[in-house]
Amino acid sequence: MKNFKIVPRYVLGRGAILELENILKQKYVSANSFSVYIIDIFFKDKNLLQLPIKSQDIVIYADTKDEPQADYINSLVDFVKNKFGSNLPVAVIGIGGGSAMDIAKCISILLTNPGKAEDYQGWDLVKNPAVYKIAVPTIAGTGAEATRTAVLTSKIQKLGMNSEYSIYDQVIMDPDLMKTVPKEQFIYTAMDCYIHCVESLRGSALDELTRAYLEKALELVRDVLLRKGNEEKLMVAAYLGGMGMANANVGICHPVSYGLSLILGYHHGIANCVAFNQLGEYYTEEVKELHQILKNFDVKLPEDIMKNVNDEQIDKMVAATLKNEKPLTNAFGPNWREIFTPEKVKQILLRM
Ligand code: NAD
Ligand code: ZN
Repeated sequence: MKNFKIVPRYVLGRGAILELENILKQKYVSANSFSVYIIDIFFKDKNLLQLPIKSQDIVIYADTKDEPQADYINSLVDFVKNKFGSNLPVAVIGIGGGSAMDIAKCISILLTNPGKAEDYQGWDLVKNPAVYKIAVPTIAGTGAEATRTAVLTSKIQKLGMNSEYSIYDQVIMDPDLMKTVPKEQFIYTAMDCYIHCVESLRGSALDELTRAYLEKALELVRDVLLRKGNEEKLMVAAYLGGMGMANANVGICHPVSYGLSLILGYHHGIANCVAFNQLGEYYTEEVKELHQILKNFDVKLPEDIMKNVNDEQIDKMVAATLKNEKPLTNAFGPNWREIFTPEKVKQILLRM
């Protein structure tokens, strides 16, 4: 039986970010103690965050134009190590969406584990405990603040650092930090939560606690997407959805979306929506609901995205999709290769 680990502490509510100072104070051991802040680039020069930054702290505004890349993460780790040698920070703080939170996870792991980010893509490859880390989501849906993975793309694959040490030690959920999120991005990232719940609930291995997390998360995210909820509900939905997904697994949409991200560079949320839109034969009612949500918020998905894509790129997308054995087994059972064939994936992709 699996022995599940979850985030041990959270603070939730408007103004929760102000608790960061107290939380960090308890970690400082000397006047030289320092923290590493990984903050989404959106917040640079905006004065929107009240953070207890000290002169010796390292503040990195993470470029999230592209989703987390192994080379970029390696360069950030080198930067921190060059500045402080073998002295470790007391905390790594990830402030932003799934991208910034995952970059912070990887850095906290790589500061105590030798080698490069790509060495740890896979399941339970991390050997040493990571530096203490705190997540501060500023956009909600991925659930990265709650999961045991840090998704990253290397030269050959988009695959997470999936380990016990990827789980945050502390989460601070402050719905006020979401006020500046543009409408489209809000929907794409919230839909990630919706899709996590739908896919995981259909999976083959769910205990009752996991099912409870996912059902409540789906109820809350649905409220928000059907305009009956607020940012706090969405933050809770993302967190519960992340816990549920970490204990279960995703299904068909995520593997298909990984091909779109890896070959065409689409970000996770939008790639998921584009993929989900073509999966009505598997998720019939939910895809109808997606259409309702897009209409409600007046958001249009990109169309004809395969127009200029060549055969070789399609083949790579098919291969990237079919690499995801665990989610596809979760969705279709052990004989998934006979059902979800390369031709089937190609047909789905060509409709986009
Ligand atoms: P993101 O972190 O990539 O951010 C999307 C955009 O929103 C960026 O341009 C960012 O600058 C902007 N942004 C963030 N906060 C903002 C704010 N408050 N106001 C205005 N703009 C803001 O988006 P995401 O959807 O949260 O994360 C996607 C990433 O998360 C992908 O890399 C995906 O693979 C990963 N992911 C990780 C997990 C996990 O369990 N670790 C799960 C799902 C997805
Ligand atoms: Zn996702």
